[in-house]
Amino acid sequence: MKLTTKIFIGLILGAVVGLGLHLAAPDLFTTLDAYIFSPLGTVFLNLIKMLVVPIVFFSITLGTASLGDPKKLGRIGGKTIGFFLATTTIAISIAIGLAYLFQPGNIDISTTGAEYEAQEAPGVVETFTNIIPTNPIQSMTDGNMLQIIAFAIFIGFALAMLGKKTEGIYKLVEQGNEIMMFLVNLIMRFAPYGAFGLLASAIGTMGIDGMRAMGMYMFVVLLGLFIHAIVTYGSAVSFLGKMNPITFFKGFFPAMTVGFSTSSSSSTLPISMKTAQENLNVPKSVSSFVQPLGATINMDGTAIMQGVATIFIAQVYGSDLSFASLIMVVLTAVLASIGTAGVPGVGLIMLAMVLNQVSLPVEGIALIIGIDRLLDMTRTALNITGDAACAVVVAESEKKHGLEEETQRMQA
Ligand code: ASP
Repeated sequence: MKLTTKIFIGLILGAVVGLGLHLAAPDLFTTLDAYIFSPLGTVFLNLIKMLVVPIVFFSITLGTASLGDPKKLGRIGGKTIGFFLATTTIAISIAIGLAYLFQPGNIDISTTGAEYEAQEAPGVVETFTNIIPTNPIQSMTDGNMLQIIAFAIFIGFALAMLGKKTEGIYKLVEQGNEIMMFLVNLIMRFAPYGAFGLLASAIGTMGIDGMRAMGMYMFVVLLGLFIHAIVTYGSAVSFLGKMNPITFFKGFFPAMTVGFSTSSSSSTLPISMKTAQENLNVPKSVSSFVQPLGATINMDGTAIMQGVATIFIAQVYGSDLSFASLIMVVLTAVLASIGTAGVPGVGLIMLAMVLNQVSLPVEGIALIIGIDRLLDMTRTALNITGDAACAVVVAESEKKHGLEEETQRMQA
């Protein structure tokens, strides 16, 4: 049986078992969750998390070094960031449009009974200046992805510039990368069991009660995620990436299931990269650069949730947002999704930044926190799909440069 099928069965079985126990035998669920479901899920999560920091460092260093000339690095970097910004803006616009269409905030909030303690969201300027690490080793121990990426780009650039002089280190990084990829393959064999544990635990804890009152909000977010995947990524992949969207979604599906079960773009990164390289034929140099960056700053699913949630909260509190405020929502949600770390639940904390900006009550987050787990899973699957779509598009557009460079070299 194929691994994808196995993971899928793990997911379904996990959801069925979790929900079944939640309804029929909650006590038994608590015991099984403590001794079987949660540990299974945690072991799997730890196994892949173990590889994230070294993979991001090795692959971005290698990606930057193998791009070689600074012009190429600038070109690929520019295209990647351009794609990320454009798709994220489209994502929020879809979200806002749907939220106005379906009006999910016309509900009686007394039925949700949730509370939320406002947390401090980091400032915009701070998020940017912090990208340069003052101590790269500490960035690694803290798992600060943006800082690790910045450091790796510097090292990769130096390796490219120094060429023959640092051949040894280049080889070391290359082989380090090989080791990590080998381990990803090994760990993936455990994925079906991990997915089962994670799903059983999440669904069993959540149940379906909370979902009723919030049905419309959930529906709008899920619809937004679906439309963005099919329309935005589907057309980007087919028009810009020259790839059949069905091939794309089918090929990337294994990574999506892992993103779904872990709720973390960062944790899924090793698997997203492997899947894009092997199933979507994205060259290593492009995948190693685009995907780690995307897993850290490109979160279209998160942006969709933030867009819908903002309009939802405005509707619940009966405040009318002006057109200028809507533009503000788009801008801050782009920044908030860039600043969101690829770990579970952070998107909801960053939502505070958007709400603050348009003077909506941050306490509104209380309304949606209860059902955020399921949406987090779904948006994470979309987040990493956006990175893969970008990798496919950049890879295709680099083909012609590859040819140009080849002929230049031959003419020289
Ligand atoms: N869990 C999401 C991710 O890792 C981030 C978020 O929206 O909370 O992609």
